[in-house]
This record gives sequence, structure tokens and C-alpha cells, in this order.
Amino acid sequence: MTHVFHRNPRAELPVAARGEGPYIYDTSGKQYLDASGGAAVSCLGHSNSSVAKAMKQQIDGISFSHSGFFTNQPMEDLADFLVKRAPANLDRVYFVSGGSEAVEAALKLARQYFLEKGETSRTRFISRRQSYHGNTIGALAAGGNQWRREPYAPLLMSVPLISPCYEYREKKNGETEWDFGQRVAGELETALLDTGPENVCAFICEPVVGATMGAVPAVKGYFKRIREICDQYGVLFIADEVMCGMGRTGSLYAVEQEDVAPDILVTAKGLGAGYQPIGAMLVSEGIFTTIVNGSGFFQHGHTYMGHPVACAAALAVQHYIEDNDLLSSVRHRGAQLAEALTSRLGNNPFVGDIRGRGLFQGIELVADRMTKEPLDPSLKIHAKIKSAAMAAGLMCYPMGGTIDGQRGDHILLAPPFIINDGHIEEIVDKLGTVIDEIVGSLPS
Ligand code: PLP
Repeated sequence: MTHVFHRNPRAELPVAARGEGPYIYDTSGKQYLDASGGAAVSCLGHSNSSVAKAMKQQIDGISFSHSGFFTNQPMEDLADFLVKRAPANLDRVYFVSGGSEAVEAALKLARQYFLEKGETSRTRFISRRQSYHGNTIGALAAGGNQWRREPYAPLLMSVPLISPCYEYREKKNGETEWDFGQRVAGELETALLDTGPENVCAFICEPVVGATMGAVPAVKGYFKRIREICDQYGVLFIADEVMCGMGRTGSLYAVEQEDVAPDILVTAKGLGAGYQPIGAMLVSEGIFTTIVNGSGFFQHGHTYMGHPVACAAALAVQHYIEDNDLLSSVRHRGAQLAEALTSRLGNNPFVGDIRGRGLFQGIELVADRMTKEPLDPSLKIHAKIKSAAMAAGLMCYPMGGTIDGQRGDHILLAPPFIINDGHIEEIVDKLGTVIDEIVGSLPS
């Protein structure tokens, strides 16, 4: 019997024993192809020897020094690496231990920034329906994921929600892609005017949505309009790249492909590729100097921020990606994966949409392709797919929901950037068989 308080105590989980490249092996020797990187984390695969070497070297030097007493070289070097490749306005990096912590820091920084400027009424945040920004109280409040919010609703700040840029479900018949993007971006202006722009700190969203609807990029022009609206009303734009950042979509930062610069960008998962827990908040020079010239101190912090071993691991991960030109592989392998998924699953009557960017691909399952009617949530198709895939030796990240605002069943694929032809074939073969098996029993 286990004394671990597992997240789902009823689940019988295999014990992970070792990893090698894109594979994980359990204690019985069974092999699993990690086609989701856990949840878009393991972008280098497992047991990368250069990352392990960098971590060992750092531990042999100094394993921990508190950021209130010392800076450390890996933290300095990692900040330098990230800023040199980021949109030009992002100039400072604040390190934390994960995605929710990075989002919390962004929310508090936005509030403190306006306080320093004397704009004390700015306390509100705006986000999008069906969004997820983390599980701590502030980050959870900032998300529009109803089933996650519901049990804690009395504890959460209220956040006006606008439509996501979710073409498959939100675009109207006859509307052009451009008009659709401008319309849903325009909802931000309406929400700002309803809330009173003088009360709003920031708008937060994911440049490519991951956790709630399986890899949904925005249409062209959407983020340019979002940026314009934020500028017009003096509201900050926070890009949550916890999942879609660090090369996952084919560019180091996902916003690069939108040609806009956020005021704050948060990232985590792929930053340390799972070798260490680490997250980061990149901040514009304007926000940083306002704090420095104001109170001189960001009133926030955590014990493990800028952890030397975590920073050394992340630095080694990012150098490995760059030195091996893995972003080109993400673009090339991503296109190959999307094509193979479409050819294997495109005609399946329960597959409504296949979409994504780079090695961040999503499949949406529906009861009816014509009406886009979601599958009955009580069937828990996403959960059945997860179990059947694990039995077949494949890790994918299915998700689904039962409360309004969270529509349908989705499967997210986020394999490591090192995958080859054979791995793509294995992912598509196994996933295709699992989907056929699970939805095959449903009346079509
Ligand atoms: N933001 C996004 C977009 C995420 O996908 C996640 C996690 O899935 C988070 C924030 C929270 O990150 P973490 O689980 O590391 O706290």
C-alpha cells in the first residue's frame, strides 16, 4: 500500500523506472513512447547526457544558494540567453519553479506596476473562456476553465472572459478567417469598456492554446488587434507560453510567429524539459524600470527562485536545442506529424478537427462532424483513450470536460523534438488503433 497522496488515488499507475530518448520504461520493462512529453514538458526526451552532465557539474560546485543572498552564474547566463532571443522589449527575467508560479508572479507584477504609477484602481484581469493558467488560487482565477474553477469559485477573484480564438467552434458560417479574428479580438475592447479600462491591469492568454482544447493557434491578425486594444487602453498584455513556448510551436517563443511583443511573457515546462522544475517570467524594460524607480522592490518571491541546478539544467537544455538546430526539426517533424494524422484519422467520422503548430498537435473528437456536436461527456472518451493508449505503450494527453464552457474531447500530442520517422509512424499507428477501438463502438 502506498502512502503517497496521488492526485487520483484510485488510479493504478505503473512505476517509471528509466527513460531513454522518447521512451519511458516501467519497472516491468514495458516501453511507452512519450508522445505528449508528459504534458508538453519533455521536449528533449529522457536521459539526455549533456543536461545530466551540466546538472552534475553544478551540484559539485554549489547546489543551492538563496536568491536573497546570492546570484548565481547559471541564472545570469540563462537570463542572458532568454533575453537575447526574446522580443526586443523583454529585457529582464524573473525565475520561479513552474508555470503557476510564473503566472502568479505576472499577475502580482502587473498590479504592482500600476500601483507604482499611482493607477490604484487597476485591480482586474481579463482572460478567455476555456483557458487554463495554472492551479494556484490566483492563476486558477485567471483561467476560464469552468470545471477547474467551480469547486473554488468563492475563493477566486472574478475575471471577465472573452471568446477564445478557436476557429473550429467560434467562427461563424460565411465569416472570413480575418473577420473572425478581428471580431473575437474586438471582444476585448467590449470587456474593457464594460469593466472600465481604468480598473484593468492586464489581459492574459496563451498564444497557442494547449491545456484546455488541444493545440489551437489563433488566426492571422488576431494578436495584432489584441496588442492594439491593450495599447489603446493602457492595459498590459501577458502571454502565457508555459505550454506553447520554448520551441514547441517551431519558434523559441510562440509570439514570434504573431509578430507582436507582450509586456510580460511567462514560460515553464519546456524551459527545463523536465530535468528540473523551472519557470520564468520575462518582463519589459518599462515595467522593470517603473518598479526600480518606484519602490525599488518587487514585493513577491519564493524560496527556490533562480535555483542554481534548475537554471544549469535549463541552460543546458536550451543550448542543446540551439546547437542541434532542433527548432528546424520541430517545424519539419510537426508538418510530417500533422500530415500523417490527417491521412490516418482525417476520415474518421468522430474526428472533427486536427490542428496545431509545430510539434504541438491536437485532435478534437465529436459525436457528429456536420453539427460538431461534442461526444456525451459521461462516456469519458478522453479518459478511455488515455488508458487504452497507455496499455498500447503510448503516452498522449487526452482531455475533456463536463461543465459548460469546456466542450468536447481532445487529444494533445507534444512529442520530444528529437523524434524521427519511425517514432511518428509509431505514434500515428498506435493512436489510430486506439481511437478506432474506443470510438468504434459508438453508433455513427
Ligand atoms: N499555464 C498554462 C498554459 C499551462 O498549460 C499550465 C499547465 O499545464 C500552467 C500555466 C501551470 O503550470 P504548472 O502546472 O507548471 O504550474
